[in-house]
Amino acid sequence: MRRVVLAPKSICEYEGLIGEEAVGEIRELAASLRGARVLHVNATAYGDGVAELLPSLVGLKCGLGLEVEWHVLTGNASFTELTQKLHNGLQGMEVALDPSDRALYLSTLESNLEVVSRAWDFVVVHDPQPVGFLGLLDGRRTGHWLWRCHVDTSTPGEAAVDFLAPYTRHFEVSLVSMPGYAVPELHPSRTEVVLPSIDPLTPKNQALSPSLARQILATRFGLDPERPLIAQVSRFGPWKDPLGVIDAYREVKRRVADVQLALVGNLADNDPEGTEYLAMTLDHAAGDTDIHVFSTLDRLSRDELTHALEINAFQSGSDVVLQKSIREGFGLAATEAMWKRAAVVAGRVGGLVEQIEDGVHGYLVSSVEECAECVAVLLQKPELRQKMGARARERVRERFIAPRHLADYLRILQSF
Ligand code: UDP
Repeated sequence: MRRVVLAPKSICEYEGLIGEEAVGEIRELAASLRGARVLHVNATAYGDGVAELLPSLVGLKCGLGLEVEWHVLTGNASFTELTQKLHNGLQGMEVALDPSDRALYLSTLESNLEVVSRAWDFVVVHDPQPVGFLGLLDGRRTGHWLWRCHVDTSTPGEAAVDFLAPYTRHFEVSLVSMPGYAVPELHPSRTEVVLPSIDPLTPKNQALSPSLARQILATRFGLDPERPLIAQVSRFGPWKDPLGVIDAYREVKRRVADVQLALVGNLADNDPEGTEYLAMTLDHAAGDTDIHVFSTLDRLSRDELTHALEINAFQSGSDVVLQKSIREGFGLAATEAMWKRAAVVAGRVGGLVEQIEDGVHGYLVSSVEECAECVAVLLQKPELRQKMGARARERVRERFIAPRHLADYLRILQSF
């Protein structure tokens, strides 16, 4: 495993956002956990929602006196491919898993066992990749083990359930993002609903004026600052529906002739699914010069800070931000856009339904046609965009920022 080293963060920095009283409550919650040894394990330090939220949560817990470490599994390309299958299987796709997959899964975890075998008070494993540790540790397990499942497990496929159930039953508690995800075949013990969060104080989420954002998009990405822009920021994959986004854009184009579309997404190092979906997306764009596909294989920076600022520019400078997912455990990219007062049109699925009240903080849609209709209306009504964007920001401030998420975690750790 590889440790991700982070500087402690002070909860005081958030006082302007949540008030003195809330800061005091968080300090109080943390007081009895001072010195607790907490391990977070996940599969990547880069590029998805979990990698996005862990730095703030881990840094804040360290700042409050807990001894927290974040470690990332190491595995080869076949392990990454297997875990993409598990992820897809958990979200309801029928996937083929055979005994050689289990052998690969367990041998990879075996080679990552040293850190989890140390003495911890709490071990939080994120998503399905590290879940199998509890099949390997036997008597060497210490502390309380929590499974933080970030994906939509409301209708899991049978193969993924059969694969993971021998391990998930050993956890004391499952943390899920929506009540409907807590199905007993995967989360047989205690379950807690914990909504994810964004960190408003990171470079990705810091204030960037729409005009400066547009200037960045023009100079770095060649987008026309005078013409309407719609954008989706997300990995290239089946659940993010990039092809549906292009179909919706084509419908919009009939009503708003000068509209431009940006599809923006990163690719992990071993990401066969991402590569395949990126190729399908480019193919579907069919050379339309108003469809711009930016990935970390070409124009999008791989440097962490520059990348964050580029994503910020897309979320702050677009007229409408799309998150047209067909499954979405939560949807941090949508939350980030809402924080920037963007008008968001999102799939009526999973956590997005909790994030956006339809017609209030953005729109929820169930088809290409509905998506195109909402985008066209928003492009034609700047005042509506502004009104929804303002409400969206407030929604995020009240419910989806890091201190609230931190308090939820502290309460759960305290409950043991
Ligand atoms: N993201 C990014 N660069 C990209 C695409 C996505 O940094 O090119 C970030 C995005 O800003 C968000 C996270 O990756 O913080 C995606 O989280 P989300 O919950 O939306 O989706 P997930 O990838 O976890 O399914």
